[in-house]
Amino acid sequence: AEEQLRQSQKMEAVGQLTGGLAHDFNNLLAGISGSLELIQTRLSQGRINDIERYMTAAQGAARRAAALTHRLLAFSRRQTLAPKPTNVNALVEGMLDLIQRTVGPSVQVQTVGLAGLWPALVDPSQLENALLNLCINARDAMPEGGRIVIETSNRWIDAQVARRQDMPEGEYLSLSVSDTGTGMPPEVIAKAFDPFFTTKPLGQGTGLGLSMIYGFAKQSGGQVRIHSTVGEGTTVSVYLPRHQGEAARDEALPRGGLLPVA
Ligand code: ADP
Repeated sequence: AEEQLRQSQKMEAVGQLTGGLAHDFNNLLAGISGSLELIQTRLSQGRINDIERYMTAAQGAARRAAALTHRLLAFSRRQTLAPKPTNVNALVEGMLDLIQRTVGPSVQVQTVGLAGLWPALVDPSQLENALLNLCINARDAMPEGGRIVIETSNRWIDAQVARRQDMPEGEYLSLSVSDTGTGMPPEVIAKAFDPFFTTKPLGQGTGLGLSMIYGFAKQSGGQVRIHSTVGEGTTVSVYLPRHQGEAARDEALPRGGLLPVA
């Protein structure tokens, strides 16, 4: 039954994603067929002056549609979740080199790992992807450089907060990534988890980073929260359920499966 639930939640996430994709794809197709119609009309009237412009527009839309399908294919190849007891502090430590190399020398990366952090029940390689994506977003928000703080803590979510935050009451640990970047205005926060929502220039953002992190956190029984002040910076916190039972083993994690998408 649990597996079934997990499967249906996954289908819901995929449904949302493909719904967003279908919408964007449809817009592009409408653009292409509109351009083709205009070309046909102009040709039948023997007026060829605007034809080149319409052809360029159609080609641009076709290229963007192809890019969309590539992203969907990359998404569908994602492995399914394999949650296990995970020491998140150790996971962060193990990622630091890669993170620092990815964000570059103009961004200082600090960690604040809580001693006595609870083990999380989570798929460690998906959490690594999420962490790397959050750091890439943080870097993108700090074109002049700045500071990233990666912080872990134990959290008790009571019934009232749980209702407000749309997550079950209980024990969680949070992994948060803070930056000293541009911040996000409310209208960007409102759409940040939508698949393909991006404010980055064409070709730079996929708009999939936060939507995938959100899907992953929800499927893991957790949540994602954004706190941001324009001009000061952003904190994105991923809440993961505490693993109840024997403690997490400190396993070395393979680096190979990392796939930055943001
Ligand atoms: P992408 O990074 O490809 O644009 P995401 O889903 O990861 O896709 O992010 C969506 C949007 O949310 C970004 O385009 C950006 O506007 C905003 N955003 C995400 N993280 C941050 C951050 N740390 N600081 C400022 N804005 C952010």
